[in-house]
Parts: sequence; C-alpha cells; structure tokens
Amino acid sequence: MMNRIINKKCILMVFLVALSLLVGGCGATTDSLSPSEKTSTEDKLAKDPIIETGGLEIHHLNVDQADSTLIITPNGKSMLIDAGERSSGEKVVQYLKQIGISSIDKLVITHAHEDHLGGAVAVMNNFAVGEVLDSGIPHTSETYIDYLSYIDEHDIDFVVPRAGDMINLDSELDIVVVNSGQEGDDLNNASISLHITYNDFTYLTTGDAEEAAEKRMVNHFNIKSDVLKVGHHGSATSSESFFLEEVNPSVAIISYGEGNSYGHPHVEVLERLTTVGTNRVYHTIRGPIVVKSDGLQFEVTGEAYTAEPSASIDEKPNTTNENLININTADYETLQIITGVGDVIAQRIIDYRNVHGAFKSIEEIKKVSGIGDATYQKMSDEITI
Ligand SMILES: [Zn+2]
Repeated sequence: MMNRIINKKCILMVFLVALSLLVGGCGATTDSLSPSEKTSTEDKLAKDPIIETGGLEIHHLNVDQADSTLIITPNGKSMLIDAGERSSGEKVVQYLKQIGISSIDKLVITHAHEDHLGGAVAVMNNFAVGEVLDSGIPHTSETYIDYLSYIDEHDIDFVVPRAGDMINLDSELDIVVVNSGQEGDDLNNASISLHITYNDFTYLTTGDAEEAAEKRMVNHFNIKSDVLKVGHHGSATSSESFFLEEVNPSVAIISYGEGNSYGHPHVEVLERLTTVGTNRVYHTIRGPIVVKSDGLQFEVTGEAYTAEPSASIDEKPNTTNENLININTADYETLQIITGVGDVIAQRIIDYRNVHGAFKSIEEIKKVSGIGDATYQKMSDEITI
C-alpha cells in the first residue's frame, strides 16, 4: 500500500544526489521552464466541456507523439497520467483548464522519457498537485532533473509505487499498480502501469512497457480490460500477442503523432489487435478520445482509427528519404556513418540482424548492446527501417 509515502523525501533526495553525481561532470545545468519557453497552443482540443457529474471519465489527450491521459473519478478526483512533451505542456494545461480541472490529486509519470514527462513542470506550475507517482528508475536528462528539482523545491509528495500496490484515489475504483520500475529495468519497462476497475468496467494503461514488463503483468495480475490504452504509441516492441490475449480488450486507444518518424502505430500491433478480436481502435491524432463509464457500460467519443497510408503494410515513413540509413539493409561501413556507431557496434547490429531478423522498429536498435537511450536519441533522426 501507500505507506511508502513516509519515505518520500528520502527517495527524492537519493534521486537528486545520485543524478547530480552522474551529470556533475557533464556540465549539465538545470533551468526551470520559463513562460517564454512555453509554446503557444494550437487549439485542437475539445471545445465543449465533457464533464458530467458522476461516473468515470478517461480523457486521452491529443499531444502528438507523446502521452497524456486524465482520469476523473466518480467522486470528482483527478489523476493525470503523463503530461506530454515539454513543448506540449501548455496544451495539456489548457485542456485541463478548459474542462474545469482546478487541481490534480495524483500526477503519475509512467517513466522518465521526455514524451511522458516533458510537460510535468508546466502542469505542476498551473495546478496544485497532491502527489507525484514516479517509476523509480531515474534518467540523467535535463528534463528529468528539472522535474525532480521542481518537486523538491515545492515540497510535493513523491511516491514510488511497487507492482501490487493499490492507488487510493476514489473508494468506487480499484486502481492496481500492475507494473512499476524494478532494478535493472530500462526506462520503458519501468513504466507504471495501472489496471482500473469500476464495477463491471475495466481499463488498462501501460505507458511504454515492452515485452519484459508485459510478461510480468500477465504472470502476476488479472489484466482483462474492456479498454486498453495501447502501450508505447503502438510500437511493435510492445503489445505482444500473449499480452493482448490476456487483456482481450474490446476497445483500443493509441496515442501517437501523425506521420511520426517511428512509423507508429506499427501494422503488426494493429494485426495483433484484430487477431484477439479488438475491432474498435481509436487514435488521438486529431483530438482527444474520451471514455465514459457508469460502471456497467461505457462509451467512447473521438475519432476511430482507419487504415490510412501511414499505417499500411507497405508504407514505411521516411523510407523515401534517401538521407536516412536503413538499419536492416546497411552494410558494415554504412552503419558506421550513424552517430554513435563505430566498428564494434556496427558488427553487433549485423550480428543482431543475423540472430533476430530485421528490426521491426528503429527503437529496437536499443536492444543492441552498447546502444542506450542517450545514443538512440542522437541517432534516431538518422535511421529508418
Ligand atoms: Zn513514449
């Protein structure tokens, strides 16, 4: 349960000290978000307040290639799961204000990647936040350090939940933490994942959790859900078939940016969803997807996904860009043109291809030994599949 809250300041201090040691020699600085850095919002958000009293509402915001999901509980409590990128923080704030949110009881940062964490400081700047829940696996990025520093300076409760914990938000809901960071996890697999039950209605959200975390969830929890917020923006490195079979959702919602360079959502994921019988798929690219339930039935408002060119089997965004290096076909010499790839890693990429076959996404290159998140960030604009 949440008795770990007692140690919240200790946890935060440990993180801050550890991070300051890690980045101390790198000249990294921390600067807080100034108003001038906040991007003006192109308002693609819902015009009309959707809130009605009673019931459960889940708003999946349109934040491009990122995540932000707002839960409003039957008793009017609020939980924001992720806050989009730094550049979309103000958009998240505007949306929350527009639908009448005045404070946030719990802010869940599923994991420390920019596309989930980036808008957190803007959110905390604009709303009183009761508590921040963090996966416990830190990042050395400036964005993550800014976020921790803000929490520390403003004395916001900071909690690292463990799998099996219940989140005490509303007596009418059971909210179970079905995944959180474990020692040795990469950032994606550390994603805080939540299974929500409201009488007969069930919902699952998994951040960017991949196969390792999906196995843990399947092995330890009942994750059957009416609605699934699809993991990792529809990347094929998540939503494995064994996982989808257990979740068995009737509705899937995918948050991604139109025309994104990753090719999300991957066609494999859409096919796996179809295989388990999920034929109602929604996307956030043109506006929020809102799920409302009275605990018996539920309804979904928003744009349904249709297989447009960006999701067809043959279409691979960026393959027409001759400047990108195809990591599935590039030879030993060509691979070494990629930032962060020398002769050793070039050979490892070729070895990986020989063992595992073609990369299914450019992110899969992180599975090659020696390519961590930082290296991947530098090379992701140079490569394709
Ligand atoms: Zn993500």
